[in-house]
Amino acid sequence: MEIHQEGWPRFAENVFDRVGDGAHVKFRQHQWCGETPLRRRFPELYCLASNPEASVKDLASFDGTSFSWNVRFTRLVQDWELESIADFMDVIYSVLPAQGVIDTICWKLSSQEVFSVNSFYTSLLSPTYRSYPWKNVWKPLAPSKVNFFIWIVSLGKVLTLDNLQKRQLVLTDWCCMCKEAGESIDHLFLHCHTARELWDLVFSMFGLRWVMPCHVVDLLACWTGQNRRSRSDAIWALIPHCLMWIIWRERNA
Ligand SMILES: [Zn+2]
Repeated sequence: MEIHQEGWPRFAENVFDRVGDGAHVKFRQHQWCGETPLRRRFPELYCLASNPEASVKDLASFDGTSFSWNVRFTRLVQDWELESIADFMDVIYSVLPAQGVIDTICWKLSSQEVFSVNSFYTSLLSPTYRSYPWKNVWKPLAPSKVNFFIWIVSLGKVLTLDNLQKRQLVLTDWCCMCKEAGESIDHLFLHCHTARELWDLVFSMFGLRWVMPCHVVDLLACWTGQNRRSRSDAIWALIPHCLMWIIWRERNA
């Protein structure tokens, strides 16, 4: 059988593991809890894993009727990592393995969770299909801390007020830039009056009219370097990084 590796990521993102005893499911590499494999969802913790290749079964600890995860890290956790650890624990305790049950591989695109060529073909034709815009997130010319920040923003994990409230932190729900209610990532960086003034200023400098997408990741995905009216593609390509970094610095000033 001929295997086309180019299409593998599109296939793999529609597959998930239903955990039985976890013997055939890699704890960090496979998607078995939540929408994303733990390795991709918590890259900062993956670097610290003492056994990065462990299976779910390797880390599952049954003691009579009680269950716990035997997850270890290569060093003590720092203060600034506690937030990630709390999220990580929430996610892994959302699914528990079952002793004596075989793991199964499931297909997201059909209601029976069984692969069919038709369902996969239909998904490939869908205009909403979108791969993650890595090339527009990681820019060689941008400082690494800015690249990292944009990456976190695109994943929706920056601690704007809506994300803090999800963590049960009670805060006044208002955007400190425009003084109106509802500070979400997409509001703060794209749709807030203050942000829009900055974006519109840039677009007018490039002689563009722009319909702002709903989400940051959509903006990054369509921010290609094909704008022939700009003098420099290199400058154009860094605008989202520059503006969102400035907005975040100002927001926290
Ligand atoms: Zn605002």
